[in-house]
Amino acid sequence: MEDKNLHYNEGRRSFIKHAGLAAATFTVSDIISVTNPYASDKKLAYAPPWYKRVTRWGQVNITEKDPSQYDINWWREFWKRTETTGIIVNAGGIVAYYPTRIPLHYQPAYLQGRDLFGELCKAAHSDGIAVFARMDSNRANEDFFNAHPDWFAIDASGKPYKSGDLYITCINGPYYNEHIPAILTEIATLYHPEGFTDNSWSGLGRDSICYCNNCKNKFKDKTGNDIPQVKNWDDRIYREWIKWSYERRLEIWDLNNSTTRAAGGVDCIWSGMNSGSPVDQSRSFRDLKKICERAEILMLDHQARSDAGGFQDNGETGKLVHGLLGWNKLAPESMAQYQASRPWFRLSSKPAAEARMWMLEGIAGGIQPWWHMISAYHEDRRMYKTAEPVLKWHKANEEYLINRAPIANVGIVWSQQNIDFYGRDNAQELIELPWRGITHALLQARMPYLPVHADNIDRDAKNFSVLILPNLGLMTNEQITSVRKFVENGGSLIATGSSSLYDEWGDMRTDYALADLFGAHFVKQSNANEQPQIPKLAVDAYHTYLRLTPELRKQMDGPHKTDEPSIVGARHEILNGFEETDTLPYGGLLDPLIVDPAAKVLATFIPQFPTYPPEKAWMREPKTDIPGIIINTKANGSRVVFLPADIDRQFGRMNLPDHAQLLRNIIKWTTKDSIPLNVQGVGLVDCHLYKQQGRLVLHVVNLTNSATWRQPIQELISIGPFNVKIKLPTEFAGRKVRTLVSNQTLKANVSKGWLEFQIKSILDHEVVVIG
Ligand SMILES: [Zn+2]
Repeated sequence: MEDKNLHYNEGRRSFIKHAGLAAATFTVSDIISVTNPYASDKKLAYAPPWYKRVTRWGQVNITEKDPSQYDINWWREFWKRTETTGIIVNAGGIVAYYPTRIPLHYQPAYLQGRDLFGELCKAAHSDGIAVFARMDSNRANEDFFNAHPDWFAIDASGKPYKSGDLYITCINGPYYNEHIPAILTEIATLYHPEGFTDNSWSGLGRDSICYCNNCKNKFKDKTGNDIPQVKNWDDRIYREWIKWSYERRLEIWDLNNSTTRAAGGVDCIWSGMNSGSPVDQSRSFRDLKKICERAEILMLDHQARSDAGGFQDNGETGKLVHGLLGWNKLAPESMAQYQASRPWFRLSSKPAAEARMWMLEGIAGGIQPWWHMISAYHEDRRMYKTAEPVLKWHKANEEYLINRAPIANVGIVWSQQNIDFYGRDNAQELIELPWRGITHALLQARMPYLPVHADNIDRDAKNFSVLILPNLGLMTNEQITSVRKFVENGGSLIATGSSSLYDEWGDMRTDYALADLFGAHFVKQSNANEQPQIPKLAVDAYHTYLRLTPELRKQMDGPHKTDEPSIVGARHEILNGFEETDTLPYGGLLDPLIVDPAAKVLATFIPQFPTYPPEKAWMREPKTDIPGIIINTKANGSRVVFLPADIDRQFGRMNLPDHAQLLRNIIKWTTKDSIPLNVQGVGLVDCHLYKQQGRLVLHVVNLTNSATWRQPIQELISIGPFNVKIKLPTEFAGRKVRTLVSNQTLKANVSKGWLEFQIKSILDHEVVVIG
């Protein structure tokens, strides 16, 4: 094993000597044989470099005081018992944890000449553990500012931007071009860490414009314009500033990589940390797609759930980033073992069940675990127990958890450009809520899905029966063409809200670019020069309804009005389950549309009326022609559902089961019942299905827990049994079913191409291998 590994990574022998023992739990042939549509390096003829092998990470985020209290021997034991194969160690940036020679590179008083980074690096390497030297390159103290005021970001009034006592450095200045590269080179030369990562590498966020001379001159050279004075999304120059700001972050990414590779060898990569949330990425000008295309390994800084997103957000994050990275690259994620946000308690242990579920969901989505603590010394020692069982289990089952391809035939389309130029300052309302509504409806229905980048539709189309555009307002002409091609080839389409109504800059088109597929048109103005009015957007939930058609009232039990027409008829199957109602709560606002004759309207809008006092709560206009749900079956059999009524956003906001059921019915109809997984049983579970060479892997994560309405979880609640059916891929011969958590072999039947088995109970998660 040692010999086999030696030749590809000379120069770091102390690491390599042990790495074969510590990290290489899957073989080269595994790497080569995985069927991966995204693999760029299928012809690997040698063992992979460290960043493809190190799969369990750990991080003590070193505080300034830690040099006086860091017990390295205790932590070496901790690495061992948690099966950690790589660590992230603070090296330099805001604070240097080694005796640096770079001017103004601040060393904390507690360092006292100690080479803490060097000691940790050496200890890790002798234990066969890889080291990501961690930088934090975004701010500096007053001495530094006074020495180089022109290296710092300033606002429109000429004042420096500050964060607490520290001054924020400008992304376009010598701090990034010279100072940080000098530090990277010094560390790479002295200590030979395997690579570099950075906590906060991308400079000021979108809400703060820098007016320093470096920025002014560079922007002028590039565009011929002055830096915009104010935020104005409709201003061409502001738009150019946004694009220019994105480009600079990629330049920094490339510069840092070329620096570390030049100093530390070809595998000494730099990979800054990124959020798993594209909306967060937009706020900091980090183009997730282009970064993933560059990154050899993606370091995710996405530490805990939000109340709105739930644990499932982490499984989805794994799928979203792997959709960009490819499934043959690794994406470890910093997982807080302390109480992270809402509110922060940096030195308190996160309740173990809460931390554990976040880790397990990440693993289900293809993320590698990375325990993260603040400080090397804790009086709350409970956090030392949380990661160990998860990482031990991960080591034992690693071969099933990496290098696999997801199976899902529902694709949900997104793009960062849509977040930037359509979402603008309202991305949560316009982008996140509809996304969350669709994904949570799929989660509840146990229907596997994948996020698809709008520029990757052509590449990924063959995997999907249906594409969903959740209020994907901004679509480029190329993306429109891709969706058309997908539908022409027999794929189905679900689009909601204002999908395709905006161009690449977020300017409104005169009609939906996909109007012919939707079978519906934005209302045309009589005056050709007049722009159509902006679609109404419900900022809050309004007291509005949808009327389902045809109405069934005479058939059903209940009081009857004397003048009631006897409208009866068969309803479309996407309205199944609503036989006892003619209306559904809606909550949004709608405008009239022109509907093509071939399209069918299945629900119409009922405008607002008072909720209070109750005496006034009656429908003023019980019926309109304003369409809420439109279906349009194409000649080739493709099924298109257009929801001007943004049911996805309403479900994301209000969590009403009616909306989830409607979305579920629509997805079921558009996929023509081709969802490859069916899981029956009581409880909320998140299911992820994968394919590896000769086998299938199914994760079922139990989201039913004591934190029903508020995190954190205090106890896990066991659920089951679950009857599982999986559609077997053609020519798949595997029939043996076993579980990786309860360690059982399960009885299985095959009937008409479906494999059936039962999982008796699930406490936190179960992973089933079929092979
Ligand atoms: Zn600047």
